[in-house]
Amino acid sequence: MNIHEYQAKALLKTYGAPVSRGVPVLAVGEAEAAARELGGPLWVVKSQIHAGGRGKGKFKEPEAGDKGGVRLARSVEEVKTFVEQMLGNTLVTVQTGPAGKQVNRLYIEEGSDIETEFYLSLLVDRSTSRVSFVVSTEGGMDIEEVAHSTPEKIVSFSVDPASGIQAFHGRKVADALGLSGDLAKQAGKLTEVLYTAFTDTDMAMLEINPLIVTKDAKLKVLDAKVTFDSNALFRHPDLLALRDETEEDAKEIEASKYDLAYIALDGTIGCMVNGAGLAMATLDIIKLYGESPANFLDVGGGASEEKVTAAFKIITSDPNVKGILVNIFGGIMKCDVIARGVLAAVTAVGLKVPLVVRLEGTNVEQGKQIIRDSGLNVIPADDLDDAAQKIVAAVKKEAA
Ligand code: GDP
Ligand code: MG
Repeated sequence: MNIHEYQAKALLKTYGAPVSRGVPVLAVGEAEAAARELGGPLWVVKSQIHAGGRGKGKFKEPEAGDKGGVRLARSVEEVKTFVEQMLGNTLVTVQTGPAGKQVNRLYIEEGSDIETEFYLSLLVDRSTSRVSFVVSTEGGMDIEEVAHSTPEKIVSFSVDPASGIQAFHGRKVADALGLSGDLAKQAGKLTEVLYTAFTDTDMAMLEINPLIVTKDAKLKVLDAKVTFDSNALFRHPDLLALRDETEEDAKEIEASKYDLAYIALDGTIGCMVNGAGLAMATLDIIKLYGESPANFLDVGGGASEEKVTAAFKIITSDPNVKGILVNIFGGIMKCDVIARGVLAAVTAVGLKVPLVVRLEGTNVEQGKQIIRDSGLNVIPADDLDDAAQKIVAAVKKEAA
């Protein structure tokens, strides 16, 4: 689960991280009071969307102006103007995709005088099963580009969970950033604070880009992107309350209600599969035969008829879906349950696109019989290869 920058900063502040003072704003009418409360003389008006690259982003609407998704204002009037321009409009950044994201919240911050911009992140490193720090003097810009062209400028180390965060980790961060004296001390404190916040709240990633040194020699968290480990959220009801569903794919929200592992993709073939491995293989083979999957969906091992029905409805609610491939290898999951689920869903929502069904395994004959008896216009398939070719051919035929 992702949260907004202003929420991440408020959370980090409770652990003692240095952040700017700021006020979130949801309506144009709140802008002036927020700006006056902060006092100036410099303000930053920041779009709150779950995507990075906001500074270099562009709004779709001309009335939003062309100053990007993060703007420096030098008067209360200018803050008001920016808020009026930005709120409710759609920001496109390298991370939003061409459709962009509507900016429903802004964060107005006290502006900082920047001396230097660094990069610092923490993430769960699966290869070492530890929390790793990634640190670079090259902050503010695209870290992937730094990693690609000047990898020596990125320093990374992991923390042994048995001994936890230690003073020498802080010195490593300070060294990597070329800091000494009081700034090195601040880096040491920040290293500990961030690690504690990370492990306490079960984050999967914490990215600070930029971490800055101000003109008066203070280290400060100027941007913060936090992702929590969704599997651990049951332990953090307070964090769950930070979820902003307007930032998420409506289909994924619906799927999460039924505990379905569903991820929206941008292709044309809707997929209902059981087992993550088989689902991945299904996506690959659709690609191999020249079309693209509209989603990843693992209905799981012991899915009920209700769950299958919900899954089918979610797939058909996607206007990009031009064909559906049901690919079930019944082990624990029984083919007749899948067949009844598909039938129930089709009865409820109708079937406007070609449907290929490949069933194999437990109760396969009952499953096939249910589909045959239904009179539905289903294209049966015998194996994965056959199924993928049939759905791709059917979609291409409809498009022709
Ligand atoms: P992002 O583009 O989504 O990563 O948003 P950031 O929060 O990182 O802001 C983008 C850029 O705006 C930063 O790299 C800074 O250069 C600039 N910026 C943000 N806050 C301030 C501030 O308080 N003072 C100044 N001078 N620049 C800022
Ligand atoms: Mg940033």
